[in-house]
Amino acid sequence: MDKIIKLLEGISHGGKAPKVLTECGPNKTEYERKRQIFNTKFQFKPTAIVMCECTEHVQAVVKIANELHYPIRVRSGGHDHEGECSGTDTILIDLSKMTGVKVDKKDGVARIQPGNRFVNLIPKLAKSDVCIPHGTCGTVGIAGFTLGGGWGPWTRIHGMCCDSLEGATIVLGNGDVLELTPECEQKELLWALRGGGGMSYGIVTEFVIKTFVLPEHTIKFNVVWTNSSAFAVLKMWEGLIAPNANERLIGTNLMIMATPTQKGVSIRKAVHSCTFFGYYVGTDKELREQMKVWFAALPPTSVNIPNEEPDKTKYSKAFTSWERLSSATLLGRNKPMLHAGNAFKLSDLDKPLKGDPLPPDQDPPAPNKITSRVTSEKGWNDAGRESLIESLQSDLIFDEGAKGGLLCYVTLGAISGSYYAKYKDPGFPYGSAFPYKKRKYTIQYQVWWDQGKEDIKLGKEYNVHEYTNRAEDWIEECRKKPFPETDGSFISFKDAGVPTRNYFLHSYDELKRIKEKFSKDPRNRFSTRKTII
Ligand SMILES: Cc1cc2nc3c(=O)[nH]c(=O)nc-3n(C[C@H](O)[C@H](O)[C@H](O)COP(=O)(O)OP(=O)(O)OC[C@H]3O[C@@H](n4cnc5c(N)ncnc54)[C@H](O)[C@@H]3O)c2cc1C
Repeated sequence: MDKIIKLLEGISHGGKAPKVLTECGPNKTEYERKRQIFNTKFQFKPTAIVMCECTEHVQAVVKIANELHYPIRVRSGGHDHEGECSGTDTILIDLSKMTGVKVDKKDGVARIQPGNRFVNLIPKLAKSDVCIPHGTCGTVGIAGFTLGGGWGPWTRIHGMCCDSLEGATIVLGNGDVLELTPECEQKELLWALRGGGGMSYGIVTEFVIKTFVLPEHTIKFNVVWTNSSAFAVLKMWEGLIAPNANERLIGTNLMIMATPTQKGVSIRKAVHSCTFFGYYVGTDKELREQMKVWFAALPPTSVNIPNEEPDKTKYSKAFTSWERLSSATLLGRNKPMLHAGNAFKLSDLDKPLKGDPLPPDQDPPAPNKITSRVTSEKGWNDAGRESLIESLQSDLIFDEGAKGGLLCYVTLGAISGSYYAKYKDPGFPYGSAFPYKKRKYTIQYQVWWDQGKEDIKLGKEYNVHEYTNRAEDWIEECRKKPFPETDGSFISFKDAGVPTRNYFLHSYDELKRIKEKFSKDPRNRFSTRKTII
């Protein structure tokens, strides 16, 4: 072990050496903080965390790991749901210091280093009045997000972020570096990076992503139903995301809370709290008029539109270090949408309020378990919708858990919209490995809970631990359920229990071949449980 650390401490490029953090070294306090990942259910202890600052540092670490046959892990934003961005007894290549962003207006692209999180990246791009198809959560990293597909507020009109990936710099398994472009000899590798998952093919140290001009008026809003049939809300939401309908609704997801089994209530009438998150291009007035039409037949409990002045740079100040966000705030996860001070009724839609640029969600790190599915192109018929709502009721879910901060729900993320309705496949290897371009929406079953340790420190008495195993059992039941009209899973919402082929479907064999042909990784060092090999 001493030899590894000595070699890592000897790395230097252009007079800069990456910081090397170890459990017993002089930076042990920083090590303790940096070993944490977003899913705090996983507590790994890497042998060393190397805070790389440039491509050459990454190359040097890969070469040392090869020489010593030592396992490596790669972390950019650290949000991997299965914790595959870290590991005990590994060399952890941390890219969070690589935060360079260069906007090239002439070519319509941004050169983005992997350490960028949306909370910092989007304001940097907005200074040049451009944007990319980013995600909803401010602390998610551009790297894992893009490599996994990249769903978000712009998906309906700009597609998944991976479909905007125009080039990349990548460190291969032997330490070689490649500059990938759509016309280079290894362009198949670029195709694989467009949705083929993180880690498998090499370590990306720069992403070249197509930009679009930021519209003048964008609004993030949410609409809540606490007393309506979830079946009816689901059907209404599905209607709004038809491929060529409602173009100004540029992105949306629907969250439906799970409940204990509702005995004696028919599935079509069952009430589950539902929140419609929406992203709209247009003025506040236009959105209000639109909402009156959208929700006329199913009046919501409340409508929430932020009432702050637009300021494209402001929201980055909200939280810069996600490690410091306490998991205790998780209990507030639902509150902004259910109890926002500016919530109002549909009948109040004529009162003036001002919009906001699309600010990120402020989710704090917390233990979680997720599984996902993807609907067919048409979405579901009524029988399918019933089976989804039915899956949201279980004897494995308890009201006491919810009261203590154990949240069980599903989120449905719209894919269908004008982008993929007009999409013409340019043919391999010019399109992307993302296999769900023509699908209607993704389905993520999620369980999140507060951490006892943090609660105890704060003198709180919540204890959800007797319910968390049951909630994870519920996730397993949902994974196994034979749903009609769905197949495949979304790799960004990684669940180690889903067979790898299910994530990539018809791209799977091609991705394996590309990894073997181009990654120069004969010992499969770029490997975790859900990488392509
Ligand atoms: C709170 C929360 C909200 C989310 N919201 C969304 C959303 O709105 N839309 C969406 O699509 N997804 C969303 N996700 C899922 C998220 O996109 C994935 O977890 C993604 O992999 C995270 O990227 P990261 O860089 O933060 O993670 P990391 O954990 O750093 O990386 C994820 C994977 O990619 C690998 N990797 C990281 N960096 C590199 C690199 N530079 N080169 C090669 N491989 C690399 C890692 O080894 C790991 O296997 C969300 C996740 C969370 C926890």
